[in-house]
Amino acid sequence: MLTQRKATIVMYHYVRDLVHSRYPGIKGLSLERFSRQLDYIQARYTPITVETLLEAWQSPGHNLPPNAILLTFDDGYSDHFTNVFPLLDARGIQGCFFPPAQAILEHKVLDVNKIHFILAAARDAEKLLDRVLMIVRGISPDFQVQSKTLYVEKLGGDHRYDRREVVALKRLLQRELPESIRRAVVQELFAEYVTADETAFACELYLSLDQIGCMCRHGMHFGSHGYAHAWLNHLSPEAQAVEVDRSLDFLQRFGVPDDDWTICYPYGGFNDSLLEILRRRGCRLGFGVEARVADLSLDNRLTLPRMDTNDLPS
Ligand SMILES: [Zn+2]
Repeated sequence: MLTQRKATIVMYHYVRDLVHSRYPGIKGLSLERFSRQLDYIQARYTPITVETLLEAWQSPGHNLPPNAILLTFDDGYSDHFTNVFPLLDARGIQGCFFPPAQAILEHKVLDVNKIHFILAAARDAEKLLDRVLMIVRGISPDFQVQSKTLYVEKLGGDHRYDRREVVALKRLLQRELPESIRRAVVQELFAEYVTADETAFACELYLSLDQIGCMCRHGMHFGSHGYAHAWLNHLSPEAQAVEVDRSLDFLQRFGVPDDDWTICYPYGGFNDSLLEILRRRGCRLGFGVEARVADLSLDNRLTLPRMDTNDLPS
């Protein structure tokens, strides 16, 4: 008999009634499409839990059900409580949720999220790119700003879902510009295009502690997504350990044992020193962003691939 050792792991971010939201331009999955995708999943796959996946790992003879699928949700959005949780709960499906601890505890909007909402509010990526370069020149006259065309050529890439200008903008604001400059630029654009009240926006955008507690009590799985949603592979081993430990302190509030937990890497970033820290801390599963089906016979359990929701029909 063939052994069933494959699992499709799907990742979701925003799941909301986009058309009727304040930011219809946000790149997310509509509630309607999510609901249809759940119908599709239940017709063709067998949803599994993290516990089932772990069991199969720990006993090599233990099969997964045919067409096993695990649903994961990144970044701790309140969407996940309001929209996702009721649908999963009603269908008896476990979701795995990975909230960035700092955003929830300190009511700070992640820079990556600020960039999403700036892009959604601005709409015209070219004009926004001009504005970014103008702000950079203003706050840091010594910094050698290149031309818009050059940045689009260098950073625009060949991305699957976004236009090249949008990709270049994201890369500039997420990584390319020196940290102090990009943080200041994002801060200024967020106040200009979205809101000056970051705390209120964070409370609306992310899960609350009570919501997470409620979801845990109903069998949803919560894992680490770091503390500050950093590119963990770009940090020193010491800084990696701090990120991991602070995210574990956060998870312990919800009864997650500190020697049996999971992680989802922000931006899919990990490296050998991080994996070593995770092994020592008792991390059981790690989720990345490589888009393919996971194979328990071949994959490392700390570097599991995940498909994007857009890779599945809905
Ligand atoms: Zn994330």
